[in-house]
Parts: sequence; C-alpha cells; structure tokens
Amino acid sequence: MKKIQMVDLQGQYREIQSEVNERFTSVLESAAFINGPEVQEFQKALEAYLGVKHVIPCANGTDALQIAMMGLGLQPGDEVITADFTFAATVEVIALLGLTSVLVDVLPDTFMIDPAAVASAITPKTKAIVPVHLFGQTAPMDEIMEIAAKHNLKVIEDNAQAIGATFTSVNGTKKMAGTIGDVGATSFFPSKNLGCYGDGGALFTNDDALAHTLRGIVNHGMYERYHHDVVGVNSRLDALQAAVLNAKLPRLDSYNTKRRTTAKAYNAAFNGHPDIELPKTVNGCEGICDSCDCHVFHQYTLKITHGKRDALVAHLASEAIPCGVYYPIPLHRQKAYTNESYKETDFTVTNALSEQVVSLPMHTELDAAQISHITKTILNFLNS
Ligand SMILES: *Cc1c(COP(=O)(O)O)cnc(C)c1O
Repeated sequence: MKKIQMVDLQGQYREIQSEVNERFTSVLESAAFINGPEVQEFQKALEAYLGVKHVIPCANGTDALQIAMMGLGLQPGDEVITADFTFAATVEVIALLGLTSVLVDVLPDTFMIDPAAVASAITPKTKAIVPVHLFGQTAPMDEIMEIAAKHNLKVIEDNAQAIGATFTSVNGTKKMAGTIGDVGATSFFPSKNLGCYGDGGALFTNDDALAHTLRGIVNHGMYERYHHDVVGVNSRLDALQAAVLNAKLPRLDSYNTKRRTTAKAYNAAFNGHPDIELPKTVNGCEGICDSCDCHVFHQYTLKITHGKRDALVAHLASEAIPCGVYYPIPLHRQKAYTNESYKETDFTVTNALSEQVVSLPMHTELDAAQISHITKTILNFLNS
C-alpha cells in the first residue's frame, strides 16, 4: 500500500507534469511573470467555469477577503458578522481594517454559520456578513441572503474551501459557490481543491462597478498608471501560479468527483456506528449522490462522540495515519480575537465541535486499499 498522506500533491503533479512543465517553460521564456497571458487566460477560464461576470485574481485568499471588505467601503467601527468555527483569516483582516468582528455560533450538523445567530447579532453598526463555505459546501445562503436584504448588509462569501460546489436555492436556481453574495473570495493555497504551487487567490463578483473598484485596489489603488485614487494594496497572482491553475482548472470537476467517491466510501464504512456522526449536507441530500455536486469535500470531517476523539487521534498517529483537527480552538477563545462581550453560552456548538471533530485524509490520489486501511483502523479502535 502507498504511504497515506493527508494531501498528496506529488501524486497529483505526476498526472499533469507535462502540461504544467510546458506552461512553466513558456512563462520562463516569455519572462511575462506578472499579469501576462497565463493570468488573463486563467481569469477568463474561471469566469466561464463559475458563470460569473468578473474574476479578479490576487495574491492569496486572505488578501481576497481583505480586498473585498475594502472594495465594499467598510469603515473602521463597522461590524462584520462571521462564524466562530473557521480558520482565522476572516477575523484577521476584519481586525487589520479596524472593523469589528462579531462571531456567532454554527449549526451542529453541517458546521455552517447559524442564520438565527446571525439575525440576533445584528446591530445598527452591522454592515456585512461573511459566511464561510466550510469543508466544501455552501453555508445556508437562502437564509443569509434574506437576512442581508432585510437589513441592507453586504455578503462576502469565504469560498476558500468550496470552489466547484453548487448551491441550489429554494426557488430552484443553481449557482456556483462564491457567486451568490455581493462578492466571493477564494484561495489557491496548494492544499485547496483548486490549488497552485505557492500562494494565489481571487475575488468574484457580478457587479461591474465593484469589479472595477477591486481591480484598482489590488494594484495600489491605480485605475490609471501612477494615479492613486484610493488606498490599495499590492496583491497579484503571478504567472507561474496561473500556469498551474490553467492546467488544473479543466480537471477540477473530476478532482471533486474523486473526493466525493472517497467520501462515499468513508460514509459507507462508518454509517450507523454509535461513536460516529457522519458529515451532513446543507441541502439535506447525501451530497454524494451520483448527480450531486453540492459538496466538494475539501475536508471529510467526522464527529467522534462519547469523548473518544483525542484517543482516536493519538491512535491514528501511532498507526502512521495522518488526520487533522479543524478547528481545535474556537475563534472567540483565541487570544488575538477574544472579546469581553462574548459569553460561552453563545458558542455551545462550536465549543462542542472543537472537542469532537476529526478530518480524515482527503485528496485526489487516495485509492481503495488506503481507504479501507483507514476505515478498518478507526473501526477496530472504536470497537475495542
Ligand atoms: C485557506 C483559507 C483562507 C486563506 O487563504 P490563504 O490563501 O491561505 O490566505 C481563508 N479562509 C478559509 C476558510 C480558508 O480555508
């Protein structure tokens, strides 16, 4: 059996090596390292893939979130509501811009931001909501968009973990994750579902005026060379990274299908076990029915109940099976982001999840022998 890895980027590279290398060589020979044809090709291809009017490439996913907030004109003191159970990038940029983050709890089955908690956190200072499409599926966007419309709030989708996932609204319209709110932000960090070989990110929007503003912000606030109309940043996707993304984007759907196939095998092995709760999808389907693409399983995350999570994690480490705990400390308890007004009773779900979740190896190169070794090791441990 091949060595089990959390993410296997070497195996994936071998499959696309000749195309990536050819594209690299042509960038090196052209010396068009910044912007240039690879970046433009990627921008157009991603716009077509997502069915969105504007893609604005940038340097990484954290920048994308920050640039989105700058582009929407959020001002110091404005409140931005986001989820307690996620990666820190969102609250980090909120803090850097002098905005105030308001963390709210998540839903116990899907781990997504809880719309009822969002609604009750709204104050006259609230200006935006950042739903995080965690682990590969979208937050409950019908409810979020309804709350936003009612209170005139902006919606920034953190789509770093769900590129390629779809969201079907109650009214039947189907949209790609990241194209539902005012602006979507994504990351092309190597381990993401669409990852480059360094850092990369992008913003998506259907709003022409906002797209224009964002294009200036990523480039030092310039709309005309050496005319700095607004305070911007330097945040570019470089051509070598775009070359990787051009090779991978046509394969994204098949990568995501492989992830779903793995999730299906994991689900089948663990279904009904008394110590395990399987990942649930926002729209209530299995997320892995053959036609369904509502979940792209950036992570396959189980809840291990009866206090057995930490012992299982230790056992997997001793068996050389990698796993991850995303996320072990709720954001409201992080030193940099804690706030006296937070009450532990407002975060009961996140607090419980931080003690129960475990994410299993999930990537495009896992084979049946590896999956069966992982599931057997886990079941033998829990049953012993
Ligand atoms: C990865 C990630 C980010 C940040 O992306 P970078 O490209 O690493 O800056 C932001 N939000 C979430 C949810 C992520 O998973």
